[in-house]
Amino acid sequence: FLIVGVIGAAFVAFQWSGPTFDPESLKGARVLVTGASAGIGEQMAYHLAGFGAQVVITARREKVLQQVAEKCQLLGPQKALYIAADMANPSDPERVVKFAVDKLGGLDYLVLNHIGPSPFTMWDGDVEHTRWLMQVNFLSYLQMAKTALPTLKQSKGSIVVVSSLLGKMSSPFVAPYTSTKFALNGFFGTLQHELAMQRSNVSITICILGLIDTDSAMEKVRGITNIQAWPASEAALHIITSGATQQTESYYPWFCYYVCLIRDWFPYFRDMSLRNLYKY
Ligand code: NDP
Repeated sequence: FLIVGVIGAAFVAFQWSGPTFDPESLKGARVLVTGASAGIGEQMAYHLAGFGAQVVITARREKVLQQVAEKCQLLGPQKALYIAADMANPSDPERVVKFAVDKLGGLDYLVLNHIGPSPFTMWDGDVEHTRWLMQVNFLSYLQMAKTALPTLKQSKGSIVVVSSLLGKMSSPFVAPYTSTKFALNGFFGTLQHELAMQRSNVSITICILGLIDTDSAMEKVRGITNIQAWPASEAALHIITSGATQQTESYYPWFCYYVCLIRDWFPYFRDMSLRNLYKY
């Protein structure tokens, strides 16, 4: 407990000494948000609109995107545009970034948030689903980052990657999903090193989220676990402020940091507690 206390105090001190979020910095900022027809992405679109950013939102369902863009307009952004795309299609990630750069005249933030649907069950041996999910949840992120990097270099911009506690520790029922999140953390963690070594002015923020109360997440865990879910709107704001203050890694809710910190200290108890969280 003493060790946890000392490390915790250091972490809190570090957080306090970090840059504070200035909402004005987002006024007119050119932002592309993926997976913005629902859940956390939709909430991010509303926050960004409220801050006066110019947003392009994307997901597969065009009608829903149109409705989200209309709501954004009411909140007062300079621009709220949408483009329908399926990230399972290998040519769509590049097409979306080009659309945003073209319509906004550049890009300041690329917020990579979308995920494809994946079952919350024991792995049934379906390799093809994991291959498909890797394209949607992982490879499309790389494709978008690659296409956006030249323009982000010009604008000293940022890539914000929405990841999960399930990209830091394994847990039952999510084998394909957790694989894609581990891959994201590994890839963008490496890219952070390489950009720093090249003295690049592009920042990468990796956001580690716990359970968030989006419709899709709640539908999956209902009746299986009683883990507390945290509000999507707060999670969305956390992601935006973390990106705007160029944090390398951020955690929401706050205790996810400690979970990651002590995760390997008592592996037997960790695994027992994890399995006991779920009804099976
Ligand atoms: P949702 O399931 O609510 O939303 C997913 C979004 O992705 C939707 O806008 C969906 O729109 C879009 N999408 C789905 N498939 C595709 C596709 N093939 N191509 C393009 N877009 C697609 O997700 P959440 O809001 O719950 O999660 C957002 C992020 O937060 C994810 O990265 C997730 O891993 C992370 N996270 C969420 C947690 C949670 O508990 N909710 C916990 C930890 C992390 P459409 O159907 O119109 O395509």
